[in-house]
Amino acid sequence: MLLKKITNVTGRMVFDSRGYPTVEAEVQVNKSFYGTSISPSGASKGKKEAIEKRDNNENLYLGNSIDENVFIINNKVKDILVGINVENQLAIDKRLIELDGSINKSNIGANTTIAVSMACLKAAAAVNKTSVWEYLNNSSEKKLPLPEIQIIGGGSHAIGTIPIQDFMIIPNGAPDFTTALHWVFKIYKLAGEKLLSNNKLYGVADEGGYWPHFNNITSVLDFLVQVIEEAGFKPYRQVSISLDIAANNFKINNKYKISNKENILLSSNDFYSYLLKLIKAYPIISIEDPFAEEDIAYFKTLKENSPSYLQIVGDDLVVTNTKLIKEAYNQDAINSVLIKPNQIGTISETLNALKLSNELNLMSILSARSGESEDNLISDLSVGWKMKQLKVGSFSRSERMSKWNQCLRIGEKLKDKYAMHRIWNF
Ligand code: PGA
Ligand code: ZN
Repeated sequence: MLLKKITNVTGRMVFDSRGYPTVEAEVQVNKSFYGTSISPSGASKGKKEAIEKRDNNENLYLGNSIDENVFIINNKVKDILVGINVENQLAIDKRLIELDGSINKSNIGANTTIAVSMACLKAAAAVNKTSVWEYLNNSSEKKLPLPEIQIIGGGSHAIGTIPIQDFMIIPNGAPDFTTALHWVFKIYKLAGEKLLSNNKLYGVADEGGYWPHFNNITSVLDFLVQVIEEAGFKPYRQVSISLDIAANNFKINNKYKISNKENILLSSNDFYSYLLKLIKAYPIISIEDPFAEEDIAYFKTLKENSPSYLQIVGDDLVVTNTKLIKEAYNQDAINSVLIKPNQIGTISETLNALKLSNELNLMSILSARSGESEDNLISDLSVGWKMKQLKVGSFSRSERMSKWNQCLRIGEKLKDKYAMHRIWNF
């Protein structure tokens, strides 16, 4: 049997899409096969997600340097991984978890562990002379995920505009992946033209969506519906709206501050009524983190009172953590889970969260972070893990497009070219 032992592990600093330092890990197998992967980084994090370790030296990259992470990889991680079979992801991740020794990766950092864990997966595929998606999925059932694509950014990704973080579209009626992206292209371009000609364009937000001047949430939703229709699509039947409320970020002193321009503060109950009205008035088919984490009871009320097609997604609420997913499920708070590998810190733990979501009959959506890179592993994971939906931001900036482009490469090789999961049938 060919030996597939890890022969070296190296760490280095590279930069993410916001220009901050981030961790890259390189894993060598049999001295000639390599896997390299870069840790992403979030801006609006769940309170319980795994900890991203930084040097906190104010003189270096505003406290964001990661020299210690690199040192840890080049020394301690190398020590525990050299000699181990690279295909044994479970044993690799167990060693990383043990080396860290904390409950939330706070000692060596989830940005350290995820970069190494992902690099090992890539190296395992490399030594098998195959791609990650084929390495993970050898069934004949392979499809591309339905994309969830940001058109307008807000919240912590576009400071000072609208508190809601992501105004996205889902091309839910598209027959295949290339058609889905063509629909997205038309809507994204038309939205940009209209914002520019109406003097409402400020720039592009962190995930490539537009950063516009709008005074309130409903004017953005009105705009989105108008663009979807003007581009030639039928809301619900073809293209619908998805929101990531990321409500943790604008609950201040127990009130939801729903405008950055006007001083409108809503109690949890009033915010619930407000959201329910939006859901009924607009073609919204998915809503993520509609309330702050401590308002989990309101997730349940919303779920009970909203239409059955509505996807209620836990992201900051459950942070890819099996214990929290179970808790949210037991409280009947969500019907869907966002899966982000760096929220938990290893590939094996991410897979556990996904398996649990499947067992509990919760829809799962694989997601990138707002701080990304050229690393497009997430696209391979989506097909490798048979994910039905993928969220990686908007339709511009290469750290986003690299993910859609990798989906196109994968789609070309599928038995049914560019076959895509379909979820909603209106
Ligand atoms: P983040 O945002 O990567 O900044 O946390 C993405 C999301 O909330 O889905
Ligand atoms: Zn989110």
